[in-house]
Amino acid sequence: MQTLPKEFLLSLVVPVLNEAEAIPLFLRRTQTALEGIPHEVIFIDDGSTDATPVLLAEATRTNPHVGVVTLARNFGKEAALCAGLAAAQGTVVVPLDVDLQDPPELIPTMLQQWQQGSQMVVAVRTERASDGTFKRVTAAWFYRLFNRLSGNVQLVKNGGDFRLLDRAVVNALLSLPERTRFLKGLYAWVGFTTTTVGYERPPRAAGHTKWNTRKLLNYALEGIFSFSTLPLRVWSYLGLIIATCAFVYGLHVVVQVLLFGRVVPGYASLIVAVSFMGGIQLIGIGLLGEYLGRTYLESKQRPLYIVARQSLSILKSKTQARPKAKVKGQTKAAA
Ligand code: UDP
Ligand code: MG
Repeated sequence: MQTLPKEFLLSLVVPVLNEAEAIPLFLRRTQTALEGIPHEVIFIDDGSTDATPVLLAEATRTNPHVGVVTLARNFGKEAALCAGLAAAQGTVVVPLDVDLQDPPELIPTMLQQWQQGSQMVVAVRTERASDGTFKRVTAAWFYRLFNRLSGNVQLVKNGGDFRLLDRAVVNALLSLPERTRFLKGLYAWVGFTTTTVGYERPPRAAGHTKWNTRKLLNYALEGIFSFSTLPLRVWSYLGLIIATCAFVYGLHVVVQVLLFGRVVPGYASLIVAVSFMGGIQLIGIGLLGEYLGRTYLESKQRPLYIVARQSLSILKSKTQARPKAKVKGQTKAAA
């Protein structure tokens, strides 16, 4: 690797929820992988109820690289990541999972690309063998649908939160005022020079996944609704198509009666038409509700997360002192 700039600091941002089994493994692996690279590790305790807080407190005492931000309750991975981005002091920041599914050995390669001018280096899964068929197929659909609906905000396929972010990108992310965070989309929205590195995603090293199908579906819908209003327009088209069909059918009935004297038997077709229209209208109203609900949540202006306690690593990047984040969304109950 080329020599790193003076005063360089790499911040790892690691959200954790009940990860007592994984934390010691994670610290050991990163220490080895990042040998010779000045770094800090910021854990965000996202409301853990197991031995995680004890382990983290122990780590801050014994390891000068480690900093911990404790959230007041479980706010979810996206909010935890935002808390970590706000606390990170580094020249570059890498969010990664504690379960070692994001191999820290990839970080030196990412750093090389950063030194060659990339402001964002996305780690892309070359194969998703550790995911089941269902997850792989639905993920592929999701990327296709999202990228089609969201115009010029294009997600990097099979890229997750594991990526290297230059300080400029982190500051851009911190300046976004919205409360509902679909980070995958926001990384793409802010832009910057982006390159990718491929890696094979291994299965979890320890502990259990915090995701299930329902959560993943909600996450996908969140992504689409927060980056596109196209679903709203679909209903205008659908209304137009159905109204046209109804008009043509109406003409057909009039012609049948006036020219041929045939009375069209109506009961079955009436029931079908009424229930079909009822269904269509309910779905339309539900969809409006999705957007209205999001507007309502944004309008409350609640912070993204509440920090209960925070102890940062003693390492500091002196030249890259971070400008205070301008976001009102981050409240520190106690710094
Ligand atoms: N996580 C979190 N808050 C949550 C759920 C998950 O901080 O509400 C953390 C978790 O501890 C892990 C990372 O987010 O470090 C990814 O979670 P997980 O491994 O369960 O997701 P998967 O890899 O299965 O998608
Ligand atoms: Mg995982």
